[in-house]
Amino acid sequence: MTYIHDTIVKLQKTSPAQAEFYQAVEEILDSLQPILETNEKYKKHAIIERMVEPERQIMFRVPWVDDQGNVQVNKGYRIEFNSALGPYKGGLRFHPSVNASIIKFLGFEQIFKNALTGLPIGGGKGGANFDPKGKSDGEIMRFCQSFINELYRHIGPTCDVPAGDIGVGAREIGYMFGQYKRLTGNYDGVFTGKSLLWGGSLVRKEATGYGCVYFAQYMLEDQNQSLAGKTCLVSGAGNVAIYTIEKLYELGALPITCSDSSGTLYHETGINLATLKELKEVRKVRLEEYLQHHPDARYIPVSDYPTDGHAVWRFPAELAFPCATQNELTEQDAQTLVANGVIAVSEGANMPSTQDAVEVFLNAKICYGPGKAANAGGVATSQLEMAQNASMQTWSFAEVDEKLKVIMKNIYRNARDTASEFGEPHNLVLGANIAGFRKVADAMIEQGVV
Ligand code: GLU
Repeated sequence: MTYIHDTIVKLQKTSPAQAEFYQAVEEILDSLQPILETNEKYKKHAIIERMVEPERQIMFRVPWVDDQGNVQVNKGYRIEFNSALGPYKGGLRFHPSVNASIIKFLGFEQIFKNALTGLPIGGGKGGANFDPKGKSDGEIMRFCQSFINELYRHIGPTCDVPAGDIGVGAREIGYMFGQYKRLTGNYDGVFTGKSLLWGGSLVRKEATGYGCVYFAQYMLEDQNQSLAGKTCLVSGAGNVAIYTIEKLYELGALPITCSDSSGTLYHETGINLATLKELKEVRKVRLEEYLQHHPDARYIPVSDYPTDGHAVWRFPAELAFPCATQNELTEQDAQTLVANGVIAVSEGANMPSTQDAVEVFLNAKICYGPGKAANAGGVATSQLEMAQNASMQTWSFAEVDEKLKVIMKNIYRNARDTASEFGEPHNLVLGANIAGFRKVADAMIEQGVV
């Protein structure tokens, strides 16, 4: 369709060198063809042209002093992408790979993900090319304070509400909140993912992983299958992977892998969750140390990975949960998974499968839950945290978990039913993208040219 093609070409000219952003835009636009073809109004109101351009992009210097007394400088970002449905909402990522392209792809995805939750939240994302690895607690604090010295003026509980993402957890949110409070004098719900001691919500920490497993459960139920007894591949070893593994065990499945940036861990009898939490949540060390506690496990260092993919996807299993990062699952990985008989893939990370890998899953007609639907439980529970803060209430674990389940079920059904409506039952990429798009686009039309 030339409209879509022209949009991408124009983006490549006006926003050069943003490969991940083009990838995210192309993936969405491809699946919007059926709705764009039959609805002139979207073209008439230039909805696509407006959607691919962030409402506001904030880029700033983050200077800080390391433990040796050296001045360091990082690049900070907050992309306020779309506020048609509510205040900008989305995480902050601190990772050396962060650049404008990465933050824009994440912010763009967030618009549709947040729309799919059915909750009143717009889409945004931010972060910095700061590497928290090996940094002392004092360095992390000084970095977070400097980051907020600029960002505080742009955020607030009814305009832009950041949260965590890769490299940003409760500790970083604490330092950022403290500095925001000092600068503004406001004690308000400006961040989510806060500590339970001062305004956080139960289940927020677990929500992305739990939600991703609930999503898999709903996909499987429609095939008269269940999670019980299924072997599972999980990638990553951060917050999303850990709570995916926890929920898989609770529902009777057997997670046999996880991974970090140095390698992949394979434990045939099942990943020991207590050891994993100790290594990654408490001690924050490399996964390889797991072997000292469980010598029967295997560890594949990155140097031994296949050149065309990731070692974690080469183990035979029935279910796969990519919970690490973007483009971690290639076409070759997808082919291997399918050849090994995988029946469902549920994405805990954002855009973990390359576009060619997604094609493999769709052609094989396995259950495939794209990240913007399957991992939406995290941001949805953030909105539940906002609701509790705004009403000065705290809900029990069971209450929030129950709401999360209902939200995930609704997201799944919305994606599934929209896919059927547009003649491609089973294609949850198409279903999720159209369902999210339609809501944001119609809201934009109703709010006029702004
Ligand atoms: N970073 C998470 C995501 O990718 C959560 C965002 C949030 O809670 O605002 O959706």
